Amino acid sequence: MVFFVPFHLIFEVPMKIFHSIPLFLLFAVYAFGQIPSESDTGIFHLKIGEVDFYTLQETASTMRSDLMITDDKEALERLAPTGQSPSSLNVFVVKKGSDVVLIDTAFGRKTAEQLQTLGIRPEEVKNILLTHSHGDHVGGLIKDGEKAFLNAAIWLDARELDCWKAARNRDLLEQCLKLYGEPKILTPDEKTPLVFPEMVAVDLAGHTPGHLGFLIASEENKLIVVGDMLHNGSIQFPRPDISIQYDSDPKKAAEVRQKTMKRTAEENWLFAAIHLPFPGVGYVKANGDGFRLESSGQ
Ligand SMILES: [Zn+2]
Repeated sequence: MVFFVPFHLIFEVPMKIFHSIPLFLLFAVYAFGQIPSESDTGIFHLKIGEVDFYTLQETASTMRSDLMITDDKEALERLAPTGQSPSSLNVFVVKKGSDVVLIDTAFGRKTAEQLQTLGIRPEEVKNILLTHSHGDHVGGLIKDGEKAFLNAAIWLDARELDCWKAARNRDLLEQCLKLYGEPKILTPDEKTPLVFPEMVAVDLAGHTPGHLGFLIASEENKLIVVGDMLHNGSIQFPRPDISIQYDSDPKKAAEVRQKTMKRTAEENWLFAAIHLPFPGVGYVKANGDGFRLESSGQ
């Protein structure tokens, strides 16, 4: 029996070869003697119509409840009894044919190696879309003082570029300008395709002044990447009104979080966020006054 698909490296949902997770798990147990856990793989794949979408997890971590901005300590204790919630740092890859797009870069500790696992050379990445300019999202643009992605253009919102120029990590911007040239300026407009016809930028300003989301739509399937519109899934799905100290405008961040989650739930889109625990993707469902995240698995 010969299988060429590297199941030990890629946790793929929905299963295209096996029609149900139990059957897939049976195969995994048969082939490898154990069920591959998501944390072993670091790579997640799903299909959005004709588009391939991947999560590359850089690190798994936890997020402290005391970073949240609220007087409702009882809610924090109820939603995160240990004071910590599972978290992650993810990079998303969108691929259509030979077009490979990265959404954010994390710190770049594993991205090149993970892309190679997918058969993608870093120089094949032609476009990098930035949700915003915080270090954990742009650090991977530079590796050892050089461009990490030789042939890539960087895209970001003009408002974000302005705030990056004044930010603590502005040295990194200077390096990027020198090595990559002027970034391409993005104006979020859900009617204007971005890189390929299935993708547009969505205005999610609030966490930062030019924070963007990206909506991918193909064959009736839709997925929105919301960047850092949400940080702590355990707390902010049920209580989207609670912002985090990292939000530059906590009130606006809460409004956009509430509005976008409602829209995502109503439209039955998939939802992907950079700091959600791996794989960082699921369906947002209305739940009482708030929301919950349902697995994207079938
Ligand atoms: Zn972040």
